[in-house]
Order: sequence, then structure tokens, then C-alpha cells
Amino acid sequence: ADFKGTVKADWCPGCGNFAQLTAIPMALAELGIKPQDTVIVSGIGCSSNMPEFVKAYGFHGIHGRSLPAASGIKWANPELTVIAYGGDGDGFNEGTQHFYHAARRNPDITYIVSDNQIFGLTTGQASPTSRLGMRTKTTPDGNIEPPINPVTMALNAGATFVAREFSGDVKHMQATIKKAIQHKGFSFIDVFSPCVTYNKDNTYDFFRKRVYKVEDEKHDPTDFMAAYKRADEWGDKIPIGIFYEANDMTYEERDSVMKTPLIKQPITKLTEEVLQEFY
Ligand code: SF4
Repeated sequence: ADFKGTVKADWCPGCGNFAQLTAIPMALAELGIKPQDTVIVSGIGCSSNMPEFVKAYGFHGIHGRSLPAASGIKWANPELTVIAYGGDGDGFNEGTQHFYHAARRNPDITYIVSDNQIFGLTTGQASPTSRLGMRTKTTPDGNIEPPINPVTMALNAGATFVAREFSGDVKHMQATIKKAIQHKGFSFIDVFSPCVTYNKDNTYDFFRKRVYKVEDEKHDPTDFMAAYKRADEWGDKIPIGIFYEANDMTYEERDSVMKTPLIKQPITKLTEEVLQEFY
């Protein structure tokens, strides 16, 4: 399947988002999923422009709200492959509560965050994942707020698939995205995705020197405590890969209403209800 969109991505040359723009369509194509069965959902930010650049259905919504929209789309038509995509500002600042609640509800969607540890679209303000002491436009004397760890946060919230990737390794990311899409339930991937224009701290070199693959160290992704320990590692060695994977009922399986999702309901009945609502 060809997911190549007609609109050319206008990100800065070298932006980490280009790696996801390659890996996501490649993963979908390798799984045999078609553009007409795929929806990319986003909020606001540089990365959130993704739906414009991929040939698939897209929903470019408001800041931090990609997950409720993505969940709603999946619940209306469970046959669709739904991927929410956006940045760390969008997802862990404006969207924090949605992130937490989506993880605990376990809808069968995939959430990929382009985590560049800064607000890029608004030209370089500190984000929730900016490191302590980092100088940005809003923290000229150094960031005094400790960063959140999206991976431990996802584990705490009950996400059933939790991973981290790096834009400097597209093939590895692509393999993890494939597994995330195949996973039944909420799958989350935090991607270190350098903002080459506004983040001079967390560069490709910074990550290249530090990242290692959890599978190279015999990590067991079914072991929650081992996953948590890995996720908490930060310093000279930073792990990437699949930290945790578990089987659990999805939101859709728990909710009896979902037995007849919107797509399966007769249009006539639906139309009547909608009309009654408005007139
Ligand atoms: Fe990418 Fe940063 Fe440029 Fe935005 S400002 S397109 S995140 S490099």
C-alpha cells in the first residue's frame, strides 16, 4: 500500500519527525493495512501536522486532545487502525489527563509521541520533558522543573504496551511500531525525536552515545517491575525498545454498547436520532 501523501512535509531539514514519517507508513504497509482503513489523529505542534503528509484518513484536532478523538474514532468503527501522533508538549502538557485515562481504559489504539523535549512550533519553550537546568526561551536561567518520564507514567497508568524509540534508528522504530499496531489494547511509544532548531541539548549525538536496546540485555517485557526499572534508567545509558507488553481486555471488549458500534447501526435509525437532537 502506498501511504505517500501529496503534501510535502515542511519540517526543518533534519527534524526527527521525518523518521516517524518513514517508519509509520512502512510499518502499516508491511502489516498489509490499507490507507483507507487507517486514521492518523493529532493535536497541535510541529509533529501534529503528520496527518497532512500521509495518505490515509486524518483528523488534526485541538491541542492535547488527540487521544479522545482517536478513541472515539476507534469506538465508532473498530475496523479502523487508529494511530494518534503528536509531540511532548501536546501529549504531556495539554494532553496529560487524556494520556493517563487512555492508558488505563486500554482502547485498541496506538499512541506515538515525537518527544523532542521542547515546544518546537512556538519556537523553543520548555516542555514537560525538558531536562532540569535546560536553557530555553522560557527558562533563560535554566529549567527549574524536573521533567516527567512518559514511560514510567504510561506504566503507572496501566498501559498494556509501553516502548521507547529514537529517530536515529528508523528500522528499530519501525519494528516496534509494527508490534504496537498489532498489540490488542493501548500501545504507547515515546520517541526521542531531536528538534534540530531549538533543542541543542538532546541532539542525535546526545542520544547516539547513550541509547541501547533492551533486547540486547535480555529484558523480559512481561515483567512489570523489570520494565519499570528500565524505564527509570537515565544517564550514560538510556534504554530503547519494548519495555512492557501485557494482555488485558480492551475498553471495547468491556463495554456492552460496543457490541453494536456506530458503524454497525442502521443509518436510518441514526439519522432520526441525530435529527431529533437538532430540530
Ligand atoms: Fe522539527 Fe524543531 Fe523544526 Fe519543529 S522546530 S520542525 S520540531 S526541528
